[in-house]
Amino acid sequence: MAIALRVMKFGGSSVADAEKIRNVARRIADAKESGDQVVAVVSARGKTTDGLVAMALEISERPDPREMDMLLSTGERISCALMAMALMDLGHAAVSFTGSQAGIVTDDAHTKAKIIEIRGDRVRDALAEDRIALVAGFQGVSQEDHNVTTLGRGGSDTTAVALAAALDADVCEIYTDVTGVFTADPRIVPGAAKLPLASHEEMLEMAASGSKVLALRSVEVARLHDVPVHVRSSFLPEEGTWITKETPMMERAIVSGIAHKSDEAKVTLLGVEDQPGVAATIFTALADALINVDTIIQNVGVDGRADLSFTVPLTDLRRAIDTLEAMRARLPFREVVHDDQIGKVTLVGEGMRSNPGIAAKMFRVLAAEGVNIQMIDTSTIRVTVVIDRRHVERAVRALHDAFDLGNEAERRRV
Ligand code: ADP
Ligand code: ASP
Ligand code: MG
Repeated sequence: MAIALRVMKFGGSSVADAEKIRNVARRIADAKESGDQVVAVVSARGKTTDGLVAMALEISERPDPREMDMLLSTGERISCALMAMALMDLGHAAVSFTGSQAGIVTDDAHTKAKIIEIRGDRVRDALAEDRIALVAGFQGVSQEDHNVTTLGRGGSDTTAVALAAALDADVCEIYTDVTGVFTADPRIVPGAAKLPLASHEEMLEMAASGSKVLALRSVEVARLHDVPVHVRSSFLPEEGTWITKETPMMERAIVSGIAHKSDEAKVTLLGVEDQPGVAATIFTALADALINVDTIIQNVGVDGRADLSFTVPLTDLRRAIDTLEAMRARLPFREVVHDDQIGKVTLVGEGMRSNPGIAAKMFRVLAAEGVNIQMIDTSTIRVTVVIDRRHVERAVRALHDAFDLGNEAERRRV
């Protein structure tokens, strides 16, 4: 039988202490001993990355992005080296690589770099020598300047899926602290149910809407290169969730899940000119500043003036306001106001395409909870509402209950 190649990725909580590292090493060793070739991608331990971010902010209010990447990339190097040591103690030949050594080439957008190419020569050589290859997640090297880059929070998922694509692996396994992808964050909804399957499209919407169990870009790479992804537990042997091209018609849920975000902000430009080209100018400037703008609403213009609101991740708020203020001379507007206390709740489901009334039911549930909706945004398989952050968790629980998502048969019928 042909030898299978497995890429196994372990998240931060799975390698948080020495015992957990040994547990993961055992799991990697078992895969190798079963006859497979193994590449393991590891994240920084526990809350290491948060700690490094805090450390930088203690020193500087606006840390330089290149230096930030030098700092942040260290967390994954630590885990990777420790994992190699643990595997050697189990009698296995293992070797660790930084992103750069693994040939993960990115653009130069520090702290949110995109992978351009994976060379992977040293990883292939290690596999050819029958060794286990360990790769530090979340990082690469910039194509032009050969600087260390990082891929944005949660980026080890992307490292794993992109490596699996480049090496033509048979599977990319994402090992984490939950047993798969659930109908909602199980930390917030204890009755959430595990989904056996989720389509690329559903998973993209869930990830973009805040289900951090898989990083958004990792799902994009999986879809683009058709990488089979299996999200499963680091601690339990059971099957997790398979992310597939399409879910079979029979398995298709009307509502598959609820995602939420609590770290968003809303920016409103009051009194912008209501004429062609204005939105283009504003959003080009924001894009050039690498700000991820999400939900956008423009109200009906009055007397040649309109108000324009959009949401951004809280971490981009300061830069968004600075970028807009810097445009005042070119683009007259009355005022920029912001609200840093918003959140989002999103319903996702393939069956929404052909089942009208899901949004209406969502709004009724929120009304009954006394939750005011500030903005609404939809796609064919998603409805998102922007609400006060304080209500987010309660809204997620109420919606999960009202749509009975813990019940598999109900998910398909709602
Ligand atoms: P890792 O450190 O393994 O990368 P993350 O913390 O990034 O793990 O992602 C796993 C977490 O994602 C879970 O602990 C859970 O709280 C959260 N989560 C949010 N939404 C979902 C969901 N729909 N299904 C499963 N987990 C979810
Ligand atoms: N350590 C990084 C983070 O916390 C990357 C990851 O865990 O995937 O965001
Ligand atoms: Mg993660």
